Amino acid sequence: MVGGPLAVRQANLREHNLGLVLGLIVNAPVPVSRADVAAATGLTRATVSALADRLIAGGLVGELPPAISLRAGRPAVPLVTAARTIASVGMEINVDYLGIRVMDLAGSILAERVEDGDFRASDPASALGRLCGMYADVVGPVQAEIPTVGACLAVPGLVDLATGPLRLAPNLRWRDVDLLALFRAHPATNAVRLRIGNEATLAARAEAEALRATNTRTFLYVSGEVGIGGALIVDGTLFAGAHGWGGEIGHTVIDPAGPRCACGSTGCLEQYAGKDALMRGAGLDLALPVTALMAAAGRGDTRAIGSLTDAGMALGTALANAVNLVDVQTVVLGGIYAPLAPFLVPVIDGQLGTRVLSAPWSKLLVRPAQARDYPALSGAASVALVGVIQDPSSWLDRDVGRAQ
Ligand SMILES: [Zn+2]
Repeated sequence: MVGGPLAVRQANLREHNLGLVLGLIVNAPVPVSRADVAAATGLTRATVSALADRLIAGGLVGELPPAISLRAGRPAVPLVTAARTIASVGMEINVDYLGIRVMDLAGSILAERVEDGDFRASDPASALGRLCGMYADVVGPVQAEIPTVGACLAVPGLVDLATGPLRLAPNLRWRDVDLLALFRAHPATNAVRLRIGNEATLAARAEAEALRATNTRTFLYVSGEVGIGGALIVDGTLFAGAHGWGGEIGHTVIDPAGPRCACGSTGCLEQYAGKDALMRGAGLDLALPVTALMAAAGRGDTRAIGSLTDAGMALGTALANAVNLVDVQTVVLGGIYAPLAPFLVPVIDGQLGTRVLSAPWSKLLVRPAQARDYPALSGAASVALVGVIQDPSSWLDRDVGRAQ
């Protein structure tokens, strides 16, 4: 009898192993050979070869020229994720810009656009309508050549599950918004498989990928924009908390008697070290880019330097509280804090040295992020690919079905 329970189990096992092999190739810090995959998975060389061939035929994996080997026998062929065969879309709405980026499985950017705007207290439908228009302009031409698997939207707030709703984005003044429904209502995006994620979490994910080949596998990520987000990465994986809402370092308290925050509380870190606070403290127009602040500080402007020092003190205080709680060795400064790192790090270091209990025995490393230029867009695009990487057969079978 064909298709009995044993056959089903074997088919499931094949699909599981296909995902296992693809996951290894995707996550390897350097290209791996079939023999490497066999050794890492415990599968036979013949099984790995058959699975790799299927992934290659389906356009998910590519081969590099054989590596020169000093040993006898056939040289190993390095396996890598395929370029320009499937695409995914990362999108972001933040307080002062909208962004969209199309990436392939290999992590190359195929198309992107970022538009400035002011989305403080904005209307969700009109802001997302503009983003959907960008989707049509930017993704449409790529889609004509390369199939798109899905999209993920990064938002500066608390998201309930990967499908929403967005619970709260304090600086946008959005509360309990069904983002998926708004995307479905627009003709350019009504058929897109969409996920939603927190922008700092997604940026931290991009940073973890950028650091994959290094020893830095555990770090606290802090993302500075108008709001301040954060994420804790432990051994390359996000530690998000019970609901996925962890990392909101921007709303840890610096001074309970301090200014009111967009979240409704008072004296939150954002009010001392967010971009608006930095620009206001320096006497600069809030709409100017952070390069204006750097230029002012660079020419010795005392207000600019004072503002950066105040922000660094607040940031260092909040980070010290966090590090006392979670004991990480590395703090990564993302968003506007990456280019501002030369001004901020000495001040933050001073606070950490004073306030982190273990500091005399283990100095913390505070450094700028490696993933720059809207890292949440890259993190979002890679999250949109997760379904294909975990279950490649669903994508390959669908692709075959459509081609016929
Ligand atoms: Zn707050």
